[in-house]
Amino acid sequence: MKTPIPRQLALAALAGMLTVLCGTVSASEVNVYSFRQPDLINPVFKRFTSETGIKVNTVFAKQGLIERLRTEGINSPADLVLSTDSGPLEAAMQADLLAPLDNTTLEQRIPAALRDPDGRWFGLTSRARIVVTAKDRPLVNPITRYEDLTNPAFRGMICTRSGKHPYMIALIASMIAHSGETAAREWLIGVKKNLSRKPQGNDRAQVKAIWQGECDIALINSYYMGQMLADDEQQAWANAVNITFPNQSDRGTHVNISGVSLTQASPNRDNAIKLMEFLVSESAQSIYAEENYEYPVNPAVASSELVQSWGEFKADELSLTDIGKHRATAVILVDETGYDN
Ligand code: FE
Repeated sequence: MKTPIPRQLALAALAGMLTVLCGTVSASEVNVYSFRQPDLINPVFKRFTSETGIKVNTVFAKQGLIERLRTEGINSPADLVLSTDSGPLEAAMQADLLAPLDNTTLEQRIPAALRDPDGRWFGLTSRARIVVTAKDRPLVNPITRYEDLTNPAFRGMICTRSGKHPYMIALIASMIAHSGETAAREWLIGVKKNLSRKPQGNDRAQVKAIWQGECDIALINSYYMGQMLADDEQQAWANAVNITFPNQSDRGTHVNISGVSLTQASPNRDNAIKLMEFLVSESAQSIYAEENYEYPVNPAVASSELVQSWGEFKADELSLTDIGKHRATAVILVDETGYDN
């Protein structure tokens, strides 16, 4: 009768140890599916891990993460989706893959316009889609609005990336929301007529093309100016252009967000929420501002000195939900007008 007691105790102790071990594993990590490039986000995750002890595992891909999430369903290891544009978060939301989150900290740190009213996505940074023009070849007709890009005076002077890229699609969707489908189609046709070359490359490649004299006018996201200026090879490109925030006298410059969502499947929900809260803390927001030249969503954090030097601008207040409604039509218009051909 004496022997079973120690055995039971041993088993109980083992079970306790297992609980602790399992508890430790789930208490110490969070899994992120990221559309955002690792070099931009790793410094933020590193600081989170050093402050909390929670390890961040990242799966990075430029596309396909939402499909993966859908296929994995409730067994997905992903806790969070991190995106550089509101599009994928919206697609995940429509596929019912995101968990609504009611969280006071997030609500206090993020202005209402930059998060889903039902808490299924939260903006982390914002960025403006600006016009850049060649410094050494001043335009006779100034550009103050996106609509000015169709002016026949600019024949052969504009270069852009593919009209299908999410940054372009969001801008076109915003034009559909403001001025209607017909006006947006006319805009695409007009800009296409003014292109100096077939749409290609990323935003920075357009600035490089201006520097090389291939074109005079381009559309880019604001933070790329900072990134180029911080790069030995690319700073000459950035120094070759002036920047304009379009539509200051009417609806404002188009802005988009990088953002984060909590998944329905989230196996490490508490850690995921801690990371979400951290991403909009002053500590993380200042990394976004200083390292990536984005506009922090948290009003307590200032933009970088460089970004501040561009001055204040009026942002288009159209909600990202409204932009989302017109995204599919924007893709059709790019196809129909043969913008990329
Ligand atoms: Fe980008």
